[in-house]
Amino acid sequence: MSRGRRLAILSAAAAALLLVAAIALFQISKARCFTLTGEIVCRVETDEPVVALTFDDGPTPEGVELTLSHLRREGVKATFFLIGSQIEQAPELVGRLAVKGHELGNHSYSHVRMVGRSFAFYDKEIGRTEALLRGMGAPPSGLFRPPYGKKLVGLPRAVAARGLRMVMIDVEEPIDAASPREYADRMVREARPGSILLMHVMYRGNGLAREALPLVLSGLRERGLRVVTVGELLRRQR
Ligand SMILES: [Zn+2]
Repeated sequence: MSRGRRLAILSAAAAALLLVAAIALFQISKARCFTLTGEIVCRVETDEPVVALTFDDGPTPEGVELTLSHLRREGVKATFFLIGSQIEQAPELVGRLAVKGHELGNHSYSHVRMVGRSFAFYDKEIGRTEALLRGMGAPPSGLFRPPYGKKLVGLPRAVAARGLRMVMIDVEEPIDAASPREYADRMVREARPGSILLMHVMYRGNGLAREALPLVLSGLRERGLRVVTVGELLRRQR
């Protein structure tokens, strides 16, 4: 075989390896229950029939209105992962959630994908939102959820350095459901004791999930699963 041919084969093999590595890293970066470094929580082992319901993004007036009314009707508390830049636009919403006993976690400041950035960038994103939450009187939850569920090595380190826990998801919302009823049925069916559920209801565009919320809450109750905050769920860990 000529030297040129060998080089061509070698560089093709190297390119293929790089591609495989890139795909693997991409899959790992969005894995719900796996991290390369640090600790993540996607569910807990518990003997009690409890699940944590979490809401990502916002706060928005229409999201807070909707969740507060349905959660009050069911008499349950949930965990909200809020975006710092959106807290700045409507800081009073933080107090409205906190005063009702809901748990408020950190969902970064600018809600960008947190891979391939510097440690300082992650630290600032986390720190600014922590300061905003504390400034509005939210008790520290010690919880962080990465935007789009994306994390590799730097973000978990930055989260841990701030003394926070990274919270992922056990039951993801079925955004392809044909109706709010189907959405709710699928969420409720997948839930089991110790599950962490995620819903997006903060924006008017989240129509399906917004309509499904009361059905999810009543469905979980009918299955005998009590909705609690992530913090409460962690305290009930076996
Ligand atoms: Zn988000």
